[in-house]
Amino acid sequence: MPGTLFVVATPIGNLSDISARAREVLASVAVVAAEDTRHTGNLLKTSGIATPLLSLHEHNEAQRATQLIARLQAGESIALVSDAGTPLISDPGFDVVRTAIAYGIRVVPIPGACAAIAALSVAGLPTDRFAFEGFLSAKAKQRREVLANLSHERRTTIFYEAPHRLRATLQDMVAILGAQRRLVIARELTKQFETLYYGTAQELASRTEQDADMCRGEIVIVVAGAEQEATASLDADHVLRVLLAELPPAQAAKLAARLTSSKRDELYRRALELSAER
Ligand code: SAM
Repeated sequence: MPGTLFVVATPIGNLSDISARAREVLASVAVVAAEDTRHTGNLLKTSGIATPLLSLHEHNEAQRATQLIARLQAGESIALVSDAGTPLISDPGFDVVRTAIAYGIRVVPIPGACAAIAALSVAGLPTDRFAFEGFLSAKAKQRREVLANLSHERRTTIFYEAPHRLRATLQDMVAILGAQRRLVIARELTKQFETLYYGTAQELASRTEQDADMCRGEIVIVVAGAEQEATASLDADHVLRVLLAELPPAQAAKLAARLTSSKRDELYRRALELSAER
């Protein structure tokens, strides 16, 4: 009989968040495949667990997957963990899980902490539908492109962000998603300095200038979805810009009103503003 691959969530800060079932599984498997064996070694030690560890990180995952599948096929059960939270969620493990499924091996989740879900659960933003974007690119151009593609996204959207990039990302969000877009920054969840910052993109971007603590520790950004009205006005802006390249403001506003079902006089005022910007 092949063994089972357990995908085990571990705490994102507060060690008491490890579940009783996670402990049982970590103690019972033949080996724990961990992102950083020293880090997970400490977690196991605090739970009195002596299971051997094996490293599995983004640089050796493909090769490790083959070794782990061979051990699973030989009947050993294996637990897969990452440094914090749920493996595979912006963490290694995808190759191993995909290969195990392809080989017909039983894969069992041992659910627990996940920073994205923890942040969403306290953000006070709609949760009926949401999107998870992981980390934005460290490169400004790519980051802005992704944000521009998401500017009309109606679902609440969750990002992971490195603390030293928070200020620049918030400034980009002001410019691209709009100064009034509502955001929540969830910092150091489950830890001593856990803080939740609620406000508009502009308020929170300005706050990073005065509050150095905001850019420290681990951070999740939860962004409210674009409102229907905002989406409509953004669309109208886009249509106006295209038309203004060819037509005078009055004509552009008249056509844009037909195309977007917005009010003609409002579009005319906006067309004058946009013309003045050019
Ligand atoms: N697999 C993890 C999970 O389930 O949340 C995420 C791993 S990812 C490499 C690490 C990122 O998750 C951090 O940079 C931060 O954006 C977020 N994160 C992890 N722990 C956090 C915490 N305690 N508070 C806020 N964000 C956290």
